[in-house]
Amino acid sequence: MKLDTLTSEKIKVFIEKGKASSKEICQIFLDQIEKSNFEIKALLHFDPNFAFQQAEHIDRMQAEGKPLPDLAGLPMVIKDNILIKGLRCTCGSKNLENFVAPYNATVIEKLEAAGAIFLGKANLDEYAMGSSTENSAYGPTVNPHQPDYVPGGSSGGSAAAVAANMSLAALGTDTGGSIRQPAAFCGVVGMKPTYSRVSRFGLVAFGSSLDQIGPLANNVRDVAKILKVISGKDPRDATSLDVEVPDYVAALGRPIKGLKIGLPRQYQRSGVSEIVQMRIDSGLKRFRDLGCEMIEVDLPHIDYAIATYYVIAMAEASSNLARYDGVRYGMRGTEEDDLTNMYLATRDAGFGEEVKRRIMLGTFVLSSGYYDAYYLKAQKVRTLIKQDFEEAFRKVDFLVSPTSPTPPFRLGEKTNDPLEMYLSDIFTIAANLVGIPGISVPCGSTTDGLPIGMQIMGTHFDEERVLNLAHAFEQSGEVS
Ligand code: GLN
Repeated sequence: MKLDTLTSEKIKVFIEKGKASSKEICQIFLDQIEKSNFEIKALLHFDPNFAFQQAEHIDRMQAEGKPLPDLAGLPMVIKDNILIKGLRCTCGSKNLENFVAPYNATVIEKLEAAGAIFLGKANLDEYAMGSSTENSAYGPTVNPHQPDYVPGGSSGGSAAAVAANMSLAALGTDTGGSIRQPAAFCGVVGMKPTYSRVSRFGLVAFGSSLDQIGPLANNVRDVAKILKVISGKDPRDATSLDVEVPDYVAALGRPIKGLKIGLPRQYQRSGVSEIVQMRIDSGLKRFRDLGCEMIEVDLPHIDYAIATYYVIAMAEASSNLARYDGVRYGMRGTEEDDLTNMYLATRDAGFGEEVKRRIMLGTFVLSSGYYDAYYLKAQKVRTLIKQDFEEAFRKVDFLVSPTSPTPPFRLGEKTNDPLEMYLSDIFTIAANLVGIPGISVPCGSTTDGLPIGMQIMGTHFDEERVLNLAHAFEQSGEVS
């Protein structure tokens, strides 16, 4: 079985035609995990018996002649901040080292009903805070293309698992780029849906006005299929919206001739590395050849996006992480007899450096006397950025940019300079501030074979057309 050309459709057909059982397919991927995870560290934990139980269920359905659901037998890994009942959910933190999820996230219930198999839980930056997966308390994941480079983050484990054929697809989460940037760095496809498209019930919260769950896979079609399954209103998540979910897969292959692609002028002076610019230019030429029209647009407030994002994301994180107090969740530092000391010891021992930095900065920007100057101001700038995007989408159908200004960087290259790390999110964070969908598709690689990604953003709930454009791009061949 050739793992790199396998798709969810092929797997279903294999099982239906009796060419392979779901359990056999599961075993192939578990072997791959056994072989590669020691080096790549994409998965924090995996449980073959748990996976086999799900696979046996699919095989029973097949034996009983029942129709198989859409994703039957699809091996997936799940970022370790999404709850799967009975499995540990560490969030890449020491704090939750022994936390076992008491229930399933809605996305897990939906994927299970669609026949997907969960092989294990993927590594991430602690509480999804980071861009390289180096902030995991359990050590970094490495880039499967070159092990001294980062896989991106925070869903680095999810992207690396797909790239290394340890899984055919994955779920990640994206608060400021954490699906798209690792997808770009690992050479796979990753999509952040519109805010409120996918239920976040059972996702451990980081920045509640920004977080979204989304799929990663080897190709756009599988991303579309998974997104279709996980989308939709969930009564258990008040922020999910009751908006019709189109058949994303059926929409693939529609003509793209005449569609208008917006190129933000301000993005053209954002310190993009030469090789990334070259590959994106070839990608844009591809769109031109396919009959799309290129139009320059302005996003006048975009220079404030990084500062705005980091004020809001840290404020929300400091509030969301208040619950890890050693009483309700997580580890308890020491058995102090004084309550305040117990809180202090717990939080000091449980959280890593980046998480602590964000809790402190987030608490500061929310505190009395500074709230108006920082948090409130950031919310106002967020509105201006939203208006910039609304204005741009009056003129064009999509906005296209590099996913990241540079190719993957070396492990350790940015760990001592948080600001440098934050700046690498320049192209991805706006989609979260504005709430719109964004996808990263492979767009060639460096001369050393490190992948480069192109980002396509669309307007709210326009995943259908974003996926179609990404699919047309993917089908038009390799970029070099
Ligand atoms: N790199 C960004 C951050 O560190 C985004 C993280 C994410 O999307 N979860 O906040």
